[in-house]
Amino acid sequence: MVVPYRHEPFTDFTVEENRKEYQEALDYVKTQLGKEYPLIINGEKVFTDKKSTSENPANHKEVVGYVSQCTQELSEKAMQAADEAFNSWKKWDPAARANIIFRASAMIRRRKHEFSAWLTYEAGKPWKEADADTAEAIDFLEYYARQILRLKDGIPINSRDGENNQFNYIPLGVGITISPWNFAFAIMAGTTVGPMVAGNTVLLKPARTTPVIAYKFMEVLLEAGLPEGVVNYIPGSSREIGDYLVDHPRTRFINFTGSKAVGLRIAERASKVHEGQIWMKRMISEMGGKDTIIVDNDADLELAAEAITYSAFGFSGQKCSACSRVIVHKDVYDTVVDKVVERTKKLTVGPTFHDNSKFMGPVNDQDAFDKILDYVEIGKKEGKLMTGGTGDNSEGYFIQPTVFADVDSKSRIMQEEIFGPVVGFDKAENFDEMIEKANNTEYGLTGAVISNNRAHLEQAREDFHVGNLYFNRGCTAAIVGYHPFGGFNMSGTDSKAGGPDYLLHFLQPKTVSDMF
Ligand code: GLU
Repeated sequence: MVVPYRHEPFTDFTVEENRKEYQEALDYVKTQLGKEYPLIINGEKVFTDKKSTSENPANHKEVVGYVSQCTQELSEKAMQAADEAFNSWKKWDPAARANIIFRASAMIRRRKHEFSAWLTYEAGKPWKEADADTAEAIDFLEYYARQILRLKDGIPINSRDGENNQFNYIPLGVGITISPWNFAFAIMAGTTVGPMVAGNTVLLKPARTTPVIAYKFMEVLLEAGLPEGVVNYIPGSSREIGDYLVDHPRTRFINFTGSKAVGLRIAERASKVHEGQIWMKRMISEMGGKDTIIVDNDADLELAAEAITYSAFGFSGQKCSACSRVIVHKDVYDTVVDKVVERTKKLTVGPTFHDNSKFMGPVNDQDAFDKILDYVEIGKKEGKLMTGGTGDNSEGYFIQPTVFADVDSKSRIMQEEIFGPVVGFDKAENFDEMIEKANNTEYGLTGAVISNNRAHLEQAREDFHVGNLYFNRGCTAAIVGYHPFGGFNMSGTDSKAGGPDYLLHFLQPKTVSDMF
């Protein structure tokens, strides 16, 4: 009997023993840096000549690993392996598939800090954020394995006399998982395991800057007993293998997490039917966000300032759920801005692989660094820079947490996804205007309302058009199974990762009617 799901607890780093263990994990991972990693196709390790270098974003001279790059020819081989493996994997008892995932989860839990330490090195995550990423990866495994147990016998339907009708779910086929670097473990693992435990086979193309953590996960899956070819690890360039596989007639679905621009491009390609293709490809996409926190005039302003600061600057704002815009009632606007600026000035920025003293680590890479600072320049024209606005990439890609006040909600820094530690403030006359401004972007991912007015909260429940709406808390940190995650409009297909119907994206229902 499988125990009921509960989310993996976070590590309390105020406890010295925990800090010591994390430090030991960092020391261990440091001894593992700089190795070469192969592709894994049909369970076989394939080293290629062309390698990408995964570097530590907090110290770009430090190499985390050299990762083989998949060619078009090898991606075809991976597709054939996955296609072949599907024929047997789909027939596995779903409970047996789930057992592999439960075992993988137990193995990860036993080596939890080691995985988090890889995230600190490869993604620049502060300890708390890395620990949450690993906990979420465990959660996805535990939650989706239970979900297939619930779905495996289908849903009861009606039958007439002399008739036996059945409604069952069957898997789709081969899918491509294209995963992001910001939750390099959790989202990579969740978007791979969800379809896979449902009986599909997967080609996993991890993000360019975080392939090593994905390789470590592959090792666990294989050690846990996953049959060869069920998940194939194929890091590589989007233009070379991404497009090829998206276009491939045997691709049945694409599970994408990343930017709006890339998501839309893939959706367009995936809609074209190619020679030999006998289905419409399914596209599941989690794209950007431009997430707003609203602060009402009767709100707890300390709570508001804390929620905004954490949601805007946790992991340097590199979450699609991050708060990048704040709309405050005019009566309390100055106070809220001041409180957030005061807190922001106290935040520390720097490397997180030596110790746990910094609140924020680096941003992802040089491209992210440049893009964010370009937006800071735009922000200086559109609003008033209150704090931050500078960066230093001499060793790692560090950017100071940045607050802009008096920015029109329609301005570019309030409309375009920056994906960095930048937040803008605008004010409103009343609650209706606050909701209107909160909704005036093309995205609809997360949002929060800080208010003590129940009528306003109920109004927001109806009218604030986001997939994840939070009251009197921040707008990040969704927990698998508690806050199913996904957004409206240009935020994607609202697939609700960590939600009760997530696996249905990778299943198709079949009706069988038997006459007696
Ligand atoms: N699920 C995460 C959160 O609630 C965000 C995921 C993302 O940034 O892609 O903060």
